[in-house]
Amino acid sequence: MKKEIFIGNVGIGGNHPVSIQSMTSTDTRDITATLNQITALKDAGCEIIRVAVPAKDALVPFKTIVEKSPLPVVVDIHFDVYLAIKSIEAGVHGIRINPGNIGSNKKVKEILIAANERKIPIRIGVNAGSLEKKYWNAPGSTAGKMVASVMDKVRFFEDNQFFNIKISLKSSDVIQTVQAYRLIDKKCDYPLHLGVTEAGTFFSGAIKSAIGIGSLLLEGIGSTIRVSLTDDPVQEIKVAKEILQVTGLRKTGIEMISCPTCSRTSVDLIALVKEAERELAHFKPGRKIVVAIMGCEVNGPGEAKEADIGIAFSQKYGYIFKKGEMLEKVEPNRSITRLIELIKDFAGGET
Ligand code: SF4
Repeated sequence: MKKEIFIGNVGIGGNHPVSIQSMTSTDTRDITATLNQITALKDAGCEIIRVAVPAKDALVPFKTIVEKSPLPVVVDIHFDVYLAIKSIEAGVHGIRINPGNIGSNKKVKEILIAANERKIPIRIGVNAGSLEKKYWNAPGSTAGKMVASVMDKVRFFEDNQFFNIKISLKSSDVIQTVQAYRLIDKKCDYPLHLGVTEAGTFFSGAIKSAIGIGSLLLEGIGSTIRVSLTDDPVQEIKVAKEILQVTGLRKTGIEMISCPTCSRTSVDLIALVKEAERELAHFKPGRKIVVAIMGCEVNGPGEAKEADIGIAFSQKYGYIFKKGEMLEKVEPNRSITRLIELIKDFAGGET
């Protein structure tokens, strides 16, 4: 089992569930925009938020953001020990540094002392694209070099009595990412923050993240995840939740099963499924609910019966099932409204 750390009130490692993180994309100097984005991310299911402090003039607004944020805040710092120390003093709940670009050990040590005083964890975040110089021409795989680089830092942290550590080893290459995390998982007990970095737009990024993060989670590796997309960060949370759902690590939320449609489909199933997704976007059931929306009476009733709530369409009607029992038949044009009513009634959650 991995060691337990806390980012604010969110436990990571130990017996804690895998948590979901994201990062703000607003200008940190714009307090209102940043807090609005954090709130939207929290509503979507984000549990920890990372905010960059890129320059000195972002420090004062950052302090307000930390004070007012509805989520625990991790500060993202590159190149500048002063910004790291000031962010820690601002009351941040965690800090992410890439030791490769912070500078001398003396500077890193200053951060360790400040973080130790405030009892906040540090993520040592090594990225394949910003490996320390000394590893550039060293022999071996990139994954191996990423692990060697992070282990160097882990030892340095430990030598300085700092153990409140989380590790990430990201690459934009999925296979490299998976290899690096597998290697580090065997080498130390610190919790691992998973992610495929710079994964791309919603479509390619969701696929890369699902394969990279998902395959590691299925092997029992990873304590917290961040999906990186070139998109609204709220989309990252949707993908992250789906990955946790599919890998069996989240026992709440809606799992939607729908068929790909074929020549037997007699309704506009794609539009109906999208309507259902839209209607359920903000619905938070207290437990996991499987919903099936199927296009015909061949495979439809079977899947619909297996689901908690399901509907299978025939030429004229949709047949709604609940826990395997046929409940009622409805006209297609009011089928989703009725389905949603039944799902909400079945789930007993907040809307
Ligand atoms: Fe076609 Fe029916 Fe299968 Fe949907 S469930 S893909 S409509 S056969």
